[in-house]
Formats: sequence, C-alpha cells, structure tokens
Amino acid sequence: MCGILPAMTSSLSVLQSVFGYPAFRPLQESIVEQVVSGGDALVLMPTGGGKSLCYQVPSLVRPGCGIVISPLIALMQDQVNALRELGVRAAYLNSTLAPDDAAAVEAALLRGELDLLYIAPERLVQSRMLRLLEQSLIALFAIDEAHCVSQWGHDFRADYLQLSLLHERFPQVPRIALTATADTRTREEIVIRLDLAQAEHYIAGFDRPNIRYRIALKQSPKQQLLRFLKNEHPRDAGIVYCLSRNKVEETALALQQAGYDALPYHAGLPAALRSSHQARFLRDEAVIMVATIAFGMGIDKPDVRFVAHLDLPKTIEAYYQETGRAGRDGLPADAWMVYGLQDVLKLRQMMDQSEGSEEHKRAEQQRLNAMLGLCEITTCRRQALLRYFGDSLTQPCGNCDTCLEPVPTWDGTEAARMALSAVYRTGQRFGVNHLIDVLRGAENDRIFQYDHHVLPTFGIGKALDNNQWRSVFRQLVARGYLRADLDHFGALRLEDQCRPLLRGEESLELRRDLARPATRQHTRQRLPDDIDTELWEALRECRRGLAEAQGIPPYIIFHDKTLQEMCAELPRTITAFGGLSGVGERKRDKYGEDFLQVIQRHLQRGDT
Ligand code: ADP
Ligand code: ZN
Repeated sequence: MCGILPAMTSSLSVLQSVFGYPAFRPLQESIVEQVVSGGDALVLMPTGGGKSLCYQVPSLVRPGCGIVISPLIALMQDQVNALRELGVRAAYLNSTLAPDDAAAVEAALLRGELDLLYIAPERLVQSRMLRLLEQSLIALFAIDEAHCVSQWGHDFRADYLQLSLLHERFPQVPRIALTATADTRTREEIVIRLDLAQAEHYIAGFDRPNIRYRIALKQSPKQQLLRFLKNEHPRDAGIVYCLSRNKVEETALALQQAGYDALPYHAGLPAALRSSHQARFLRDEAVIMVATIAFGMGIDKPDVRFVAHLDLPKTIEAYYQETGRAGRDGLPADAWMVYGLQDVLKLRQMMDQSEGSEEHKRAEQQRLNAMLGLCEITTCRRQALLRYFGDSLTQPCGNCDTCLEPVPTWDGTEAARMALSAVYRTGQRFGVNHLIDVLRGAENDRIFQYDHHVLPTFGIGKALDNNQWRSVFRQLVARGYLRADLDHFGALRLEDQCRPLLRGEESLELRRDLARPATRQHTRQRLPDDIDTELWEALRECRRGLAEAQGIPPYIIFHDKTLQEMCAELPRTITAFGGLSGVGERKRDKYGEDFLQVIQRHLQRGDT
C-alpha cells in the first residue's frame, strides 16, 4: 500500500478502503485473524467463496510481502492486474517474464516495495529464489490450489511436493493453504505433504446456491446444446466441456456456424493459440469456450454464466469442480449436462482399461458409480452432491432439475428382469442393440444367424419401444447390475448384484425418461426486475470502454454486482459512489467520475 499503512492497520479497514467491501464473510474473518496473528491455516472453500481475500488482506496488514504460490501461470498476470487496479503493489515471477523484468521484480522485493508476489512453484523451490526470500521480509506464504499435492487427484504437480520445505526454511512465517477440493482424503494429504499439522482448519459449506444443476438425457446433443443456449444464454460467457479433442473442434465449429462466438481449447492446440483463446474468453463478455478438461483450473472469470457438459465427468469431484466455474460472482448460473447410455459404457470401459493397481481401479469405479448415481437420482441433486462431500442440506433445494420438475418413476422390476434374462440367454456376448432386437422380436440376419429367435426371451419385450429399452439398460448399467465387457465391444455381462432381482426378491424403481427433453423453460431474469436495463447497458458500455483503453478485462474494473448496485442506488456524489460494495478508494478516485456521469445523464434523461 505505497508504504503508507501503519503496520497495525486493522484488517477491516483494509477490506473497506482497498477492496471496497463493507464486511468480511463469516469464515474469512477468522481466517484473516489467524493468519494476521502469525498462525497457519488450511482453507477449504468452494469456488467463489472468497479465498483470495484470506491471504490478500493479511499480506497488506502484516509487515513484508505476501508470497502466493500458484500453479496457474496464465492467471497470475490477471490477478496482479486486478490488485494493481486496487492500488496494491503486486507482481509475479514466472517463466513468461523476460529476465530483465524478473530482475526488476526481485529488486523490488528486496527493497521491501511489494505487498504481494505471485510465484510459480517450480521457481519458488530453486535455491536462488529461496536465498532471495531469506533476504526479504515475508508476510506470509499462501499456497493456492493446494490439492495439487495430491497424487490421486487429476491436478497433481510434482513441484508442490517440495513446498514442505517452506516450513523448514521459514519457520516463523505463517502459511495458508487453500483449495476448493472437498474430499477428506485430499485434505489429509495436504496436511501431511505440506507439513501443516499445526494449522487451524477452516471448512466452508460447499453449497453454491446460485448454480442451477440440470442433467438431461442425451438425445441429439448438439441440438440440445443449441436450444439451451438460444433459450437461456444467447449472449453470455460460458464453458462447454467435451471429452475428446475432436469433439471440441466439431462442437466449436457448430456453435460458430450457429452464430456464437465460440473458441476451441485443448492440449493439442499450439500454446500460443491456447493462450490467445483464453485471453479472449477473459476479456470479452460473451465468448463460449469449448474445451477438454485441460481448460479451466483456476479460471477466475467471475461472470461465467453456464458450464455445459456434453460428456460425463469421471467423478463427482471433477463434476463439481468444473461446474463450480460458473457464477463465481454469486449471480444466477447454470450447470447443464446431457448424458446417455454410451457415456456409461464408454467410461466403464475406460476404467477397466486404465493402468494402476486393482485397488486403484476399484476406487475409480466407486467414484464413477457415485457420478452415475447422481445422474440417475430422482430426488434433489444438490442434496445428493452435498451429501457426497459430507455436507448437508435439510430441504430440497428448489434450484435443480429434479426439484423444478419432479421425475416420474415407474416400477421397472419386470422390464429389468426381461433385460437381464436376455443378457443371460444370449450368453453375455452381445451389446445393447442386439439385446433390444431380441427383446422386441426383430427378425433380422443377426438374430437368425445366432438362432436367437428360438429363445424364450425373444419378443417378450414388445411393450417397450427402442428408447425405453435403452433407458432400462442404461439404468441397469449405471446401477451396477450389468457391466460392459471391454474385450467384446460393449457386450453386456451380468454382475452378482443382479441375482436377487432375477430371483424376484428385489424390485426396481426406474426413472421414466421423457421422450422429448422438457421444453418448459426456466428462463431466469439475470438482472433483478427493478433494474433499468437502459442504465445497465450504459454502465456496461462505460466499463467496456475503460477496460479496452487499458487492455484489461471489464470485470477487473467492476464486477456485475457493483454495476447492479449502481443501478439500484443511483449515487450522485463521489462519496455515495465510494460507499458501493466493490468500490475501494483507488477505484473511486480513478473511475468514480466516469460512472457518475453516466448515471447523471441517465437521470437527466428521465427528467425531461
Ligand atoms: P475463490 O478464490 O474462493 O473462488 P474469490 O476470492 O475469487 O473466490 O472471490 C469470489 C468473489 O467474491 C469475488 O468477486 C470477490 O470479490 C467476492 N468477495 C470475496 N469476499 C467478499 C466480501 N467479504 N464481501 C464482498 N464480496 C466478496
Ligand atoms: Zn434440488
């Protein structure tokens, strides 16, 4: 803070004057207190929970520079820009920096002229860097994305394992580790590997109430996606996840042809193209990123209005992390997914094929089963999600598809027994399509070739059509009664679990898939009703102009929430403007007049 803050400035006044927020969120306050007083902290908070302030405020309050370790090089610049906008003396050190610039940052650190310094982990652990840190005054170490130490997770970074040395080399400096990954195993690993036995744990609720979860049956995925975009997000930023690079390319193209500003992102694209696409996504207001999971860790863009999945993620952890990138700003957002029989078969097979011990495979299967369970569930999805993370919600949420449109179920016991018996009678060697032919009594070459027309199951299932049978098979596989055999191209085999069902000792309630996906629209007003859209657009225009002039994303100037406050409060003086949430002193002075003028003009127009 330009060196003017007395060492003991209170955290609250930093929050108000620098960040422009009136109060800490409940957990933030205790975390900040703990770190300011020199203690270690382990922070588990969902995306959008407000983790950054937990180390940014203490870095400003404590003497010296806060060191933030983050694997997300692409994001550092953005974060540093945002801090500089607030008047914080922030910088970063990573491989994208020219040697001269890096030297300048190091010199600034030594002279005590930095409040916050972001460093990539591989750089931090170099002995040169460590020596430099030893010669500097360090306020704290913040280890962001701390789940990267977990060898089980998909974001594992070997460099993170070395971060335990911070404790040995800098025993007096408080450390704060942060992650949005919730499961207990990862948490335990973080504590062990980062040597955080002394740390206080802070675990926030994992609910993201502003995200609406929907999982629909996959029929014609591209059409379904286009319909979703047209009806609900015609001009919004969002992410569409696909499993393969090919599908990313195809989908991006289809969206472009439909008039959307869509860009592909996957590990097969040249690095330069990837980062330019990422920059476009951050900078513009309505870019759709079509991506593999290579995209997104730590995407800080607050106004991602939807995350769509065209393929099923392998675990609930992955699903929750990916969908969690929507709606960081707390405004309404959608997590939308389509899934079908092929997804289940494909993933089950991939897991069978995967490397690793039997134990590892079993663990993977269990996690996939939980994901499938979430897809097939007929009760509140949010309750199920939170339960999975050991959190709870006493009432159904009212903001997921199963709450909004209760799923009809039917007694599928008889159908399931027919299906299982068809699998058994045909020798557990055939895939779904053939099995359905058997059940429906189709008279084709393959049926005759194998003499399947003489089976007792032949034609016993004419009462259900093709789609209904696919639905039955999908649910049987999803629930673990059947599995797809990798050696025989998706041939279905019986699992032990199906015995009681076959013997008539168990009944089975199945989802009734609707022939057509629900057409009822839940279009929501993104803006509160009483907001004047004309003023809103004028303010956005003003923000866009200011952002473009400086080459930064609009949200770095003000978040949508702050613009909404301007519409609601209609401030007429600079003091009133400074009182809005999200307006700190520096932004008040830098931008106040511009926005006040827009408001003024708007009010005058209303008068005449
Ligand atoms: P995370 O890193 O946990 O995903 P961020 O630190 O990016 O979350 O914060 C999410 C959003 O919440 C940001 O827009 C941030 O400015 C806002 N925010 C955080 N703390 C507060 C607070 N105390 N008051 C108001 N807004 C806050
Ligand atoms: Zn619900």
